[in-house]
Amino acid sequence: MPAAYKIIDHTYDAVVVGAGGSGLRATMGIAESGLKTACITKVFPTRSHTVAAQGGIAASLGNNTPDHWSWHMYDTVKGSDWLGDQDAIEYLCREAPQAVYELEHAGVPFSRNEDGTIYQRPFGGHMQNMGDGPPVQRTCAAADRTGHAMLHALYQQSLKYDADFYIEYFALDLIMENGVCRGVIALCMEDGSIHRFRAHNVVLATGGYGRCYFSATSAHTCTGDGNAMVLRAGLPLQDMEFVQFHPTGIYGAGVLITEGARGEGGYLTNSEGERFMERYAPSAKDLASRDVVSRSMAMEMREGRGVGEHKDHIFLHLDHIDPKVLAERLPGITETGKIFAGVDLTRQPLPVTPTVHYNMGGIPTNYHGEVVCVKDGNPDHVIPGLFAVGEAACVSVHGANRLGSNSLIDLVVFGRATGLRVRDILKPNTPHNPLPKGSEDMALSRLDTFRNAAGGSPTAQIRTEMQRTMQKHAAVFRDSALLAEGQQKIAATYKRMEDVSVKDRSLIWNTDLVETLELDNLLSQAVVTMEGAANRKESRGAHMHEDFPERDDANWMKHSLMSFDGWGGKGGKVTLDYRPVHDYTMTDDIDYIKPKKRVY
Ligand SMILES: Cc1cc2nc3c(=O)[nH]c(=O)nc-3n(C[C@H](O)[C@H](O)[C@H](O)COP(=O)(O)OP(=O)(O)OC[C@H]3O[C@@H](n4cnc5c(N)ncnc54)[C@H](O)[C@@H]3O)c2cc1C
Repeated sequence: MPAAYKIIDHTYDAVVVGAGGSGLRATMGIAESGLKTACITKVFPTRSHTVAAQGGIAASLGNNTPDHWSWHMYDTVKGSDWLGDQDAIEYLCREAPQAVYELEHAGVPFSRNEDGTIYQRPFGGHMQNMGDGPPVQRTCAAADRTGHAMLHALYQQSLKYDADFYIEYFALDLIMENGVCRGVIALCMEDGSIHRFRAHNVVLATGGYGRCYFSATSAHTCTGDGNAMVLRAGLPLQDMEFVQFHPTGIYGAGVLITEGARGEGGYLTNSEGERFMERYAPSAKDLASRDVVSRSMAMEMREGRGVGEHKDHIFLHLDHIDPKVLAERLPGITETGKIFAGVDLTRQPLPVTPTVHYNMGGIPTNYHGEVVCVKDGNPDHVIPGLFAVGEAACVSVHGANRLGSNSLIDLVVFGRATGLRVRDILKPNTPHNPLPKGSEDMALSRLDTFRNAAGGSPTAQIRTEMQRTMQKHAAVFRDSALLAEGQQKIAATYKRMEDVSVKDRSLIWNTDLVETLELDNLLSQAVVTMEGAANRKESRGAHMHEDFPERDDANWMKHSLMSFDGWGGKGGKVTLDYRPVHDYTMTDDIDYIKPKKRVY
C-alpha cells in the first residue's frame, strides 16, 4: 500500500452506499430501528438520479379508476415478459399502496383529485382486469417532479433518525471475507483520505449504469459503481442484457420526456402524420409497454417514415391538450421542451427518439434485499452481510422489461424491506470482529494505478469509444453478427484501460481520477452486457434478437448470471451461469401467472 494514503476507520451496524430513493429509504428504515447507520454518497443526496424522475410511482390505490394489487401484479409479470420472479412481484404490488401512503405521510406533496385523494394517471402497460383493460390510472405523481419530491422527503426523514451522512465520498470496493461482506472502502473526494467502514451489513444502492451508452436519459453519475464492486468481489450480476430504451428522449439531447405525457393524452406520429402505434398495439396504442413502443418507432424509422432531414426521429404531440392541463400536470416537460428542443409544445410537436433509460439487470437479490448467488446447487444462496436495492438490484421484479412508474415503487418497497430485514437479523450492539488483514489492498492498488496512470489514452476518449460501441451493437435491435462484432470491439476497448491517462495527476481533488474509476466500473458492465446479449438466443422484453425473433420459454426462461475477472484492462474473462425464474408466488392468495404471448 502506498504510504501516502491516510486511512480513517469507522464502525457501523449498517452502511448504505447510495442516497437515491432506494438508499435513503433503506437508510431511514435501518436508522429508525435504532441501529448505527451510515450513508455514503458520491453526490449530495438530493442530486441523485432519482431527482430526475418525472412521471410518478405505481400503486393500486384505485382513486381514479377501479384497481387491485393482483391487476398490478399481472401487468408487471406480463411487462417482464415472464422473466420476473413472481414471489417478488407479488410482494412489490401488495406493499405498494402502503409505501405510497408512507411517502405521503413523510411529506411528499402528491397531486390531488378534487376530493383530496392522491391523483393517479395512466401509464404504459398498466391495465384493469388482469390485463384485459381498459387502461387503469395507477401512477401517483407530484406533477412531473415526483422523484425530486421523494428525495427531499426521504433525506429529511433520514436526518431525523440520526443517520450519519458521508457526502462526496466515493465507494471503491467491498471488504469481503470468506464469502461474507464485512464493510466497504471509500475515498473522500475532497481531501483524498481513505475511509474504511466496518459494518455488519452493507447495502448497495448505487443506481443504474446508463452511461455505458452514448445517448441516455440518466445522469452522468449513473455508472453502476456498486454493480462493478460486486463483479470485483467475484460475484455475478444478473440479466444484464436487458437494457430499457425509453420511447421519448428528446432527439439530439437525450433528455427525457416522461411517459406521463402520453398518459395525459400525448401521441406519436411518423413522417406521414400517421398515428402508427395503432398498427403495432391496437388496444393499448401509445400506452403499450416501452419495449414495444421503442421497437415500433425504430421500425418506422427503418422503413423510411422517420421525420426530419435524416428521417431519424418521431414526433410526440401534446399540442392538442388544453394548455391549462399541461401547466398543471406537466410543467417541467413544457420547460424541458423549450430548452432542449426549442419547441413550444402547446403549439408544436416534439422531436423524440428511443433513448437508453433503465437497467433491468443488476445485483441478484431476494425480496428482502439480500444478495444471492448459486452455491452448492442452491440458486438462492444468501451472501451474509450484503444487500442491494433500487436500480442496482435485480430482485427481479422487472424481468426483461420494466413498466413505467414501477421503479420508484421498487425503490421504496425494497428499501423498506431491506430495513426490516436488517432489523430482524441484527441486534443493536452486536460486537464486531477485526477486519481481515489487507482488506484495503485491492481497492488501494486500483486507486493507485489510476492515480499514476500516464498512458496514451485519455479517459474521455476510451469512454466515448465504449459508449458508441454499446449504442451501435447492443441497442433496440440486435443480431448475431452485430453482437459478435460488438463483443470484439468492447473487449478491445476494455484492454485500452491498461494505457489510460489521467489528467492533473498531482491533484488531490481530481475529477478526472474519479471519472476514470467510474469508466473502469462501466467497462466491466459493458463487457458483461454485450456478452449476455450475445449469449441469449431468443427475443424477450427489451432484448430483441433478430436471428431469434420469438420468446423461447423451453430454453430461455431463466436468469443469466455473469461474472467478470479483472479491472483496469487486466483479465476480462466473462463466466456465464443461470438461475431458474421463481415459478411460484409468495402466498396462496394468487396463483402463478402462466406465460402467454405478450400483446398490447
Ligand atoms: C430522467 C429519468 C426519469 C425517470 N422517471 C421515472 C418515473 O417517473 N417513475 C419511475 O418509476 N422511474 C423513473 N425513472 C427510473 C428511476 O428514477 C430510477 O431507476 C431510480 O430513481 C434509481 O434510484 P436508485 O436509488 O436506485 O439510484 P439513484 O437515484 O441513481 O442514486 C444512486 C446513488 O448512489 C450513489 N453512488 C453511486 N455510486 C457511488 C459510489 N461509488 N460511492 C458512493 N456513492 C455512490 C449516488 O451518489 C446516488 O446517491 C426515471 C429515470 C430517469 C433517468
